Amino acid sequence: MLKNALYLGFIKTFENLFCMQNTLEKFDRLVRELLEDESKQPVADFVPSGELYNTLDLSLNEEGVSEEAFEKALKELVFKTPRTATNAFFNQLFGGRNEKAILGDLMAVILNNSMYTYKAAGPQIGVEKVVLREVCNLIGWDDNADGTFAPGGSMTNYMSMLMARDAADNKVRYEGVSSKMTVYTSKESHYSIPKNAAFSGIGRDNVRYVPSDSEGKMLPDALAEIIQKDIADGFKPIMVNLTAGTTVLGAFDPIRSVREICDKHGMWLHVDGAYCGSVLFSDKYKHLIDGIELVDSFSFNAHKMLGTPLSCSIIVSKNKKHLHDSFSNDASYLYQTDHDEFNLGKTSLQCGRRNDALKFWTLWKSVGTKGLAKIVDHQFDLADVARDHVRNNPDYTLYSYDESISICFNYKGIPARTICTALYEQAELLVGYGAFGEDEFIRLVTINAQNEKEDITQFFEIMERFVEENEAVLLQESTHS
Ligand SMILES: *Cc1c(COP(=O)(O)O)cnc(C)c1O
Repeated sequence: MLKNALYLGFIKTFENLFCMQNTLEKFDRLVRELLEDESKQPVADFVPSGELYNTLDLSLNEEGVSEEAFEKALKELVFKTPRTATNAFFNQLFGGRNEKAILGDLMAVILNNSMYTYKAAGPQIGVEKVVLREVCNLIGWDDNADGTFAPGGSMTNYMSMLMARDAADNKVRYEGVSSKMTVYTSKESHYSIPKNAAFSGIGRDNVRYVPSDSEGKMLPDALAEIIQKDIADGFKPIMVNLTAGTTVLGAFDPIRSVREICDKHGMWLHVDGAYCGSVLFSDKYKHLIDGIELVDSFSFNAHKMLGTPLSCSIIVSKNKKHLHDSFSNDASYLYQTDHDEFNLGKTSLQCGRRNDALKFWTLWKSVGTKGLAKIVDHQFDLADVARDHVRNNPDYTLYSYDESISICFNYKGIPARTICTALYEQAELLVGYGAFGEDEFIRLVTINAQNEKEDITQFFEIMERFVEENEAVLLQESTHS
């Protein structure tokens, strides 16, 4: 009997191994084919959403399909998916494919741990703690500081607002919001701020939008004035959200002067560095977040400037007490062993949590802090190339400023959305548009550190040729819209 069971166990293990090997081979083949195709065709064929279900077989049925049909359906899907790692993707605030980070993320999938306890994640807990510790060290914070990972910058911003709310009134966690709390952010900040105000019970109507200067940076004097008025009207100002790299212009709000205002009123100060907070790693550009050691919390997305796969968002808090106050809940079915230091669920927004730290660790381990600095610096170098091109050509108007990796411009007076949409539908380039004040413009983001200067020059060449070949149509469309 026992012999039989062992034998069956052996067969089972062997079968699993064989299936996994088979899967890895398939994966390997599919990835190779994709990479080869990407090198020839950096933009996937455009599939209009209205034709999606006729173009691809996405249907799910009672019966499974043959292995052959399965592979065919998967390959078609993969090949028609937008290619975010190529030198033709400038659409969002991420891009590229960093192989060291990818290796870490693939391992996280294979290992499939959940980061709430040491019992379930073991040494992976150490990986996360080491990353967070080093980030705090770079800021200049001591052992009192700590942090965590969350699924994206919207969520790390949410965590900051919850900590600010609870720090302002520690009864809210039990009794709900009863005072008229207000939060302050610039007009140029991310849309997650009003959403988070709704989630946290503070309310969208209690978000105050502070005006920015002509370069998109929050005006501290205006902030101070709005706070004064709110206090006079019986509101309770609890936090300021600053942005390190605004979504459109890539501007950096001033930290030091706003810290003084927050101190005056006992307010929490958060810096949303989802886009460009990673300048922390660069000696050359760290000055853009001068005063970062003075804030209460700071978040950044390693999946933006540092190029790890999505998502890899970190929040650190100067005093870890606030993380515990807002996010811990005792759960005897979960926290059964080891000191709380190693049970990271106690400072998390989530219960089960993906291992997002490993991909950042594999990258950091392999290139060092100096390598991360190089990644950041290179993006600013690429931005200089793009700005020079725009400045040196009278057909362009520039709307963004130096020391930003967002280059905002218009070309030959053609509406930005007309050019961007046509480039997308013709599968030429993926680039987006944005607005500041009255102006709408194309926003080129040099966030893919795998690009070289030639890739940026090529972007302009492709766009200029495209406009030349389609000028009549583009102008006609713009008068229609
Ligand atoms: C991208 C971004 C966010 C949101 O981050 P997600 O990871 O997409 O949720 C928040 N704030 C700013 C400034 C951003 O650029």
